[in-house]
Amino acid sequence: MPLILASYKLWSELETASRAKFVWNCGFMTISEQTDSRLAKAKECADATGIAYEILDGREAGRRYPQHRFREDDFVLFDGMGGLYASEYAIACAAAVAEEAGAVIHRDARVDRILPDEEGVTIVAGDRSFRVGRVVVTTGGWASELLPEVNDVLMPKRTWQSWYFAEDPEQFLPERFPPFGRTFDGVRFHGAPTIDRRFVCIGAVEELPERIVDNDPTGPRVLPDMSIVNEYVQEYFNGLRSDPVRVMPALDGYTVDDNPIIGVHGASPRVVVLCGFSGHGFKLAPVMGQIAADLVLTGGSGQLIDELKLERFDVSSQRSSV
Ligand SMILES: Cc1cc2nc3c(=O)[nH]c(=O)nc-3n(C[C@H](O)[C@H](O)[C@H](O)COP(=O)(O)OP(=O)(O)OC[C@H]3O[C@@H](n4cnc5c(N)ncnc54)[C@H](O)[C@@H]3O)c2cc1C
Repeated sequence: MPLILASYKLWSELETASRAKFVWNCGFMTISEQTDSRLAKAKECADATGIAYEILDGREAGRRYPQHRFREDDFVLFDGMGGLYASEYAIACAAAVAEEAGAVIHRDARVDRILPDEEGVTIVAGDRSFRVGRVVVTTGGWASELLPEVNDVLMPKRTWQSWYFAEDPEQFLPERFPPFGRTFDGVRFHGAPTIDRRFVCIGAVEELPERIVDNDPTGPRVLPDMSIVNEYVQEYFNGLRSDPVRVMPALDGYTVDDNPIIGVHGASPRVVVLCGFSGHGFKLAPVMGQIAADLVLTGGSGQLIDELKLERFDVSSQRSSV
């Protein structure tokens, strides 16, 4: 939680620096049966940190949020600290502020190898190479390509997001329809309000079955079977059309304990690793940037990250790339 609070402050500073709005402090709803462990965990976390929250039963939640169709046995924990990020816009703003401050971004460089030695690090990207003092590896779900030693403890996981047409977009704006996570029948759904005043984004965290469409003239394509999400939209929402207008894949790296890997690489003090955010990394991004900078400059961090080192796993059997 201290990391999240530190991050919120930095997001706000970034909004000010870039004269932009990409955060909506509209709260977050955890929806589930009363006995579900996620509800208990959200409550425990809010109690421990003093975050204001409300618990509503299905009937009261239905009155307040008529866009959802709640079940009789649903409970909703509304946490006022949660919110919505326009993630791509936020990243573009962060990149612009970094460039204004003198950073150089090589947008078209795919890194193939990282070669640290006593004096520095060589980064190989195609036919180019860069010589630097230290390197920070933040390649998300692709981390094991550069760091094979994380192979056994970090799984890339592809999730699909879909966007549904809102018949009355005013009802699905952040202040009326906060982002939510909803668990039932073993599936974790999540959704976010509209910020373009047209489409509402809904997805399922579980991996959806994928199918190959091989009669495409441009070559085989992999498409998800979205029926589980479409049926959820049809049954549990008012005012959304249940056939998606857009479907997009996204990838993140999930560790075996769902906690990220953060720290200086055991094999070279010149390599800092931050990956494995397991579906929770976006809100933490600015504070992770600060931690990375501290690790590069001083080898340590004022934040409590000791338990997040790669060494908490037994990765000795994997050949190190560094
Ligand atoms: C659908 C979805 C919803 C999510 N919702 C939330 C949420 O509500 N709240 C939250 O906090 N988090 C959320 N997350 C998780 C969050 O987005 C991730 O945890 C976070 O983006 C991980 O950051 P990262 O820097 O480790 O990886 P990424 O954001 O994946 O960034 C890795 C980057 O490295 C690049 N890359 C990979 N290999 C190479 C290479 N060899 N050379 C050069 N570049 C390379 C990739 O192109 C990519 O740009 C969500 C994720 C998904 C997929």
